[in-house]
Amino acid sequence: MRGIDLEQADHGLLDDLRIVATPAARGLSQLVLRTDVAGMPLEWIDYKEAARLYHQEQVAYTCGSLLYELYGGVNARTGRRTVLEVNSIVATVGHTGNPGNTRHDYVPPLNNQTLFRRDAYLCMYCSQRFASRELSRDHIRPFSQGGTDVWTNVVAACRRCNNQKASRTPEQARMQLIAVPFTPTYAEYIFLKGRRVLADQMEYLVAHFPRSSPLHDRIRAYLS
Ligand SMILES: [Zn+2]
Repeated sequence: MRGIDLEQADHGLLDDLRIVATPAARGLSQLVLRTDVAGMPLEWIDYKEAARLYHQEQVAYTCGSLLYELYGGVNARTGRRTVLEVNSIVATVGHTGNPGNTRHDYVPPLNNQTLFRRDAYLCMYCSQRFASRELSRDHIRPFSQGGTDVWTNVVAACRRCNNQKASRTPEQARMQLIAVPFTPTYAEYIFLKGRRVLADQMEYLVAHFPRSSPLHDRIRAYLS
């Protein structure tokens, strides 16, 4: 277990607070999954944001495993130091700038990192696994034929397959997609954006995926 003095780490933000990461967190870089008070996933937050939420009494309840212990100031009356425990999942009151978790028509922003993760780093044509630097964003229906840059028209493709397909549809190129592209739901998007997702956070997020989500199988493939 290692401790970091926040006064040194971040001058002036949280006077008098010290944070110790537990073995479960494997360091202070582990992010916390924040949910709303109903338990719907909202976002990933770092320990400073978690500390701020505790400080402002916005934490309604916690789930998951203990990640950090926050040592606050000494209470003048009791002479005791306050200790707060931050878990891997915290449910909070109040709002964030993310309305997506409650909207059924929410469309998360498209970027290569989450796209490649959606497709489990597999080329959707030759089904081989690649590192993200070896993958590209293929437009199933190319721009030149009226295709757009949306989740349902893009897949991860290796350079070889992307070159072979060129500016053609899969039918025209006689190539077959191994899976149907889909727009991630909000909970799926939060999962795909995760840096290091702990087992309990993953279990929690997966429980919020649609039953038909292709990610159920892909996560099993990741873990195997
Ligand atoms: Zn390929």
